[in-house]
Amino acid sequence: MAQAGVAAVPQTMRAWALFGPDDLRPVTKPVPRPGPAEVLVKVAAVAICGTDLEILHHGLPALVEGELPFNGQHVIGHEYVGTVVALGPDVDEFQVGDRVVVEVHAGCGRCERCRHGMYTSCLNYSRRSKGHRANGFTTDGGFAEYAVNHINTVYKLPDHIPFDEATLIVTAGTALYGLDVLGGLVAGETLLVVGPGPIGLMAVACGKALGASVILAGTRESRLRLGQELGADWVVDVRRENLADRVRELTEGQGVDLVMECSGAPDAMNQALYSTKRGGKICLAAFSREPVPFDAAYMVRNNIYLYGIRGEGRGAVKRGLALMAQGKISGKPFITHRFSLDELPKALETAEKRIGDAIKVVVFP
Ligand SMILES: [Zn+2]
Ligand SMILES: [Zn+2]
Repeated sequence: MAQAGVAAVPQTMRAWALFGPDDLRPVTKPVPRPGPAEVLVKVAAVAICGTDLEILHHGLPALVEGELPFNGQHVIGHEYVGTVVALGPDVDEFQVGDRVVVEVHAGCGRCERCRHGMYTSCLNYSRRSKGHRANGFTTDGGFAEYAVNHINTVYKLPDHIPFDEATLIVTAGTALYGLDVLGGLVAGETLLVVGPGPIGLMAVACGKALGASVILAGTRESRLRLGQELGADWVVDVRRENLADRVRELTEGQGVDLVMECSGAPDAMNQALYSTKRGGKICLAAFSREPVPFDAAYMVRNNIYLYGIRGEGRGAVKRGLALMAQGKISGKPFITHRFSLDELPKALETAEKRIGDAIKVVVFP
């Protein structure tokens, strides 16, 4: 079976490689071959993420070995799905023809953090020799026809979830990892989501699916409206209302139990603090560009817990897949634009400039 699949795979493929900051070029590359514990995926759809644009302009968000990413070889794109077309030696966990969603990080599997399921915070981050991979970050990603993936980062996709919608499962994984570190059992809790980008909006949808009451805060009216469609019980336009005052009004003066901060805005940390109930928890899921001053004394006086997450750890992508398979969340409302792989620069521009109110731009190889 595997041999038949391998035979059908061509020697070379189309891909986009990074040659320097803002220098992305179409290239022909050898199709990678899966090694032990790996499968080769024919990419069917890949969504553009804000982080792709960051890498394109500034390089990788974490320190890496070697000359990545501007070496004329490196392929980015990390929110992709596709079909297994070849298996590495002794791989029997998947079959050629399986439709799959791919999560970003395969940790080294041997460091303390990986052993705790925190493979997005692998202590051997970027060290290929130790087994670490992060698709589209430290190893080649999905702006290509094919990509190799460790089997631990691949999940079978039921037939009824279309490929384009499935690109949102990794986004749901990040939102669910945040809800996991906030305690996991969110039914009956009040959850404030700050920042209606894709992760924030997915946090709204996942929070609702898991039984929380959700307040969404942001500045863009169209995004707040979408948040309402996704189930937010209340939305707050922070240009018009003071967030903490409004949150206290909505929560009988107490504040919310949980906050997911997905904006990275400079004042978001204090806004989150002042909106949190005494003894509540805040999870930061966005990068702020600069160091952010915050009211640490308020946090201590009110026994507020603060967490930071990186990506989609502890098997959260599998949970996102389950929620989508059960119809409790959907990728559909997020997808605003579609392009072919040849049109990648136009697709990236559409995502970056939010042309036509773009939320998720999906590219099809
Ligand atoms: Zn992403
Ligand atoms: Zn590790």
